[in-house]
Amino acid sequence: MRVAVTGGGGFLGSHLCEALLRRGDSVVCLDDFSTGDPDNIAPLLSHPGFAFQHADVSVSADGAGRVDAVAHLASPASPPDYLRRPLETLRVGSRGTENALRLALRHNARFVLASTSEIYGDPLVHPQEEAYWGNVNSIGPRSVYDEAKRYAEAVSAAYRRTHGLNVGIARIFNTYGPRMRPHDGRVVSSFITQALTGEPLTIYGDGKQTRSFCYVDDLVRGLLALLDSSEMGPFNLGNPVERTVTELAEAVLAMTGSRSEVKHHPLPVDDPVRRRPVITRAQEVLGWQPEIDITEGLRRTVAYFAARPDRLGASAAAIRGGQDETVPLTAVTGATTAAQTIPGPAAETAGVTPTTAGPSGSGG
Ligand code: NAD
Ligand code: UDP
Repeated sequence: MRVAVTGGGGFLGSHLCEALLRRGDSVVCLDDFSTGDPDNIAPLLSHPGFAFQHADVSVSADGAGRVDAVAHLASPASPPDYLRRPLETLRVGSRGTENALRLALRHNARFVLASTSEIYGDPLVHPQEEAYWGNVNSIGPRSVYDEAKRYAEAVSAAYRRTHGLNVGIARIFNTYGPRMRPHDGRVVSSFITQALTGEPLTIYGDGKQTRSFCYVDDLVRGLLALLDSSEMGPFNLGNPVERTVTELAEAVLAMTGSRSEVKHHPLPVDDPVRRRPVITRAQEVLGWQPEIDITEGLRRTVAYFAARPDRLGASAAAIRGGQDETVPLTAVTGATTAAQTIPGPAAETAGVTPTTAGPSGSGG
């Protein structure tokens, strides 16, 4: 089949394009490289089944041509990225999703939305199953991402109800692996970059908050299973093994043999305290579950980062520069206590010009 992958030049999207080509599908990748990297798809450009369109899907996804399926992944995903691009994030979750839905509708194609565990916000129910409706601060800094994705789910479900479109929704939990940008500000990429360059590992808050980390190959298998089905879900796709951020730091230090110290920074506003997916639905309906544990996943990811030493030094400096730029942000609901600080990239959101040069914002 011919699959349009929006955001196909990003971390997950490029792995999905590759997996589709590997099994014999053809792919049209639409991306504006606002947070992606042309290097991610450079090896695919010579493949006869691969086509690339430079496009902002918030404007249009029409250039994709005839398609049998649409995988809509275009959106900033790392908190520093979406805090730097609040309006673009809202736009791609709303208009971008509608454009991708219209593309699917025109061709009577399967449509899969890359939604997120952020749908659950800072969850009051643990672990999170799909029936939980979430606890999201609709006007906090993270809302530009969380509410955009909630709208994306809503409009996708409405297209299914109204037009009978064959829609599927994946709620993706923290996923890591090769092709993450070393300076994207997410916890796995930051810790590995810091460990390999001897910089302190930056733990936000007390490090007791948890996440459940899924290796990219597992996640991509889940997306393929959802593309091939006609189930709507939503489906939690993630690894149900939960870890604290401190445990992750220890695992990265052990894996790299690094002697980096650990340094604590303020916890970002509305940072979820706990995150663990219930994946029973994906196991039973899609026959999917993750297979790669964190030790093996980190080994592969560290090997990828270690093979690119030229990118690491500048990235470590960029992460550090971003984190030094802290501005007080007053929380806007009773759910979070007042006057917290959020690490650097939010400085731009608050109108403060960052001083960091180099690749800090180079995703865009
Ligand atoms: P990423 O930033 O590496 O990839 C996103 C891609 O979308 C980039 O290539 C970017 O250039 C592109 N893009 C952004 N806005 C665009 C626009 N308007 N038009 C065209 N292209 C645009 O992030 P990722 O981790 O690969 O995430 C991919 C998708 O999966 C996102 O929708 C994200 O919300 C979702 N997701 C990811 C995770 C995770 O842990 N990686 C977790 C939950 C959800
Ligand atoms: N985090 C951290 N240090 C970092 C980056 C992130 O302690 O350098 C924390 C962050 O506060 C959150 C968790 O790690 O509690 C996961 O953050 P990430 O940005 O990877 O993803 P999120 O799940 O918050 O979207």
